[in-house]
Amino acid sequence: MKSTENLKIDSLGRCDPEQAFEFASHYLVAGLTSPGRVRKELDGRAFWVSRGEGAYLWDLKGNKYVDLNAGHGAALVGHSHPAIRLALRKGIEMGILCGQETMLPALVAQRICELVPCAERVRLVFTGTEATQLAIRIARGFTGKWKIVKFEGHYHGYNEPLQFNFQPPLDQAGPREAPAVRVETSGAIPENAKYVSVLPWNDLGLLEDLLKREAEQTAAVIMEPINLNCGGLMPRPGYLEGVRALTRQYNVLLVFDEVLSGFRTGPDLAQGYLGVTPDLCTLGKALGGGLPIAAVAGRKDVMEALAPVGKVVNSGTYYGQVLVMHAARAFLDLAKNPYNWAHQQVIGKRLYDGLTSLFARYQAGHILPVGNRFGMFFGLEEPVWEYRQAAKVDKELELRFYKAAFNHGVYFMHSWHHGYSWAHTEQDVDDALNGIEASLRDATGKS
Ligand code: PLP
Repeated sequence: MKSTENLKIDSLGRCDPEQAFEFASHYLVAGLTSPGRVRKELDGRAFWVSRGEGAYLWDLKGNKYVDLNAGHGAALVGHSHPAIRLALRKGIEMGILCGQETMLPALVAQRICELVPCAERVRLVFTGTEATQLAIRIARGFTGKWKIVKFEGHYHGYNEPLQFNFQPPLDQAGPREAPAVRVETSGAIPENAKYVSVLPWNDLGLLEDLLKREAEQTAAVIMEPINLNCGGLMPRPGYLEGVRALTRQYNVLLVFDEVLSGFRTGPDLAQGYLGVTPDLCTLGKALGGGLPIAAVAGRKDVMEALAPVGKVVNSGTYYGQVLVMHAARAFLDLAKNPYNWAHQQVIGKRLYDGLTSLFARYQAGHILPVGNRFGMFFGLEEPVWEYRQAAKVDKELELRFYKAAFNHGVYFMHSWHHGYSWAHTEQDVDDALNGIEASLRDATGKS
C-alpha cells in the first residue's frame, strides 16, 4: 500500500497494523525510525502505538498497556504531563524557534547548576549521543590528549568516538582483563579503535594498571555511574571513590554519562546519590519531559574549553529551541518538587516488593531496582557486577516473559532496563503486577 487512500486512521490514531506497516515500509527504511525498536518479542516487528497518556500506551488497534518502558527513561513524568503541555503552549506563543539567544537556556542551566553537584557551567544540546560526543571533544580539547577509557556494557549513544563494546558476544569479547576493542557499526573509521581502551567495569586494579601505562595519552575515563544499560548494576563499595582518586592522580578527566542514570534516584543524579563528583557529566532523557534535550555540564575551567572562550567547537541551528527549553524548565521544576520523589518511593516500593516476591515464587531470577528504573535478571543469582555476568541471563526465559507480558497488557521493551513514571498510581502497579504474575506463570510453566 503506497498511498494512505485506503488506510483509515480514526481520531484516536487507530488503524490496521498490517496496512500501517506495509505503508511505512514503502517510505522508511524497514518501516522504522530506529533499528533498536525491532522487537524479538514481537517477532521482529516494532511496537506501534497510537497514543500515550500518563502511565499508558495504546496500540494501533486501541489495546491499552501499562507502560513499563516509560519512553526508554525519557518519559519520567509520564506521557503528556499537564505541566509539559502548558510549557509547550508557552513556547508556541513565544515563537516556537526564535533561533537567537533567549533567557530560557540560562534559566534551564541555572536549575541544572542548582541540582547537579559537578555543574558549574552547562552547554545544552538535543540528544544523549550529541552530549557524550561533545563531552569527549571537550575532554580532548582541554587535556590535549586523545585516548578515552570506556567500559564493557556501558552505552553512550551511536557517535563515532564511543560506539565500542556495548554488548560484545561473549565468545568474541576477548580476555576479560584486556577486552578486544570492537567497533559496533559499519561505516565508522576502524582506526579510531586505537583511541579507545576498553575495560571491565567495577575492577579498580585493571583501571590503575591501564592508567599507569597510558595516562600520558588518556584524556578521560567515561562511564555510566550506575550501569543501567546492563540492568542497573551498582558500583562496588569504594569503586567510584577509587576511580575519582586515580583520575585525579593521573591527571585524566572523569566523565559520568548520566543520560540514563540522571533523575532516577533523586534530583542530584547518580553523582549526588553516590557521593562522587566527576569533572564533567552528560544529561538527557528525563530532562526534557518528553522533548529532546541533553546537556554537558561540569567544572567551569573544563567547560570553558568550549568556543567562544576556548577552541572546542559545537554549534546548532536549533540550539536553545524554545519549545524544548520551556519543557526542560518545567521538568526541572517538577524535579525540584519533593512530592514527586516521595510518590516515586511509594510506587517503587509497591512495584519492587511485588516483583521480588513474584520472581522468588516462580524462581525466575532477580530484579535490581534503581529508583524509578530497574533491571530483571532472568535465571541469574545475585550479585551481578559487570557486563560479562549480566550477559549470562536466561535469554529464552526472558523472551518468553516479554512476549507473555505483551499479551497480558503490560508493556516491557525487551531491553536491559525498565521503569515507571511519576504518573503511575498504586492501582497501575497492582494491574501491572497481575499481568506480570500471569506472564511469569506462562513463561516458567510453573503455577
Ligand atoms: N548515554 C546513555 C547512558 C544512554 O543510555 C543513551 C541512550 O540510551 C545515550 C547516551 C544516547 O542518548 P540518545 O538516545 O538521546 O542519543
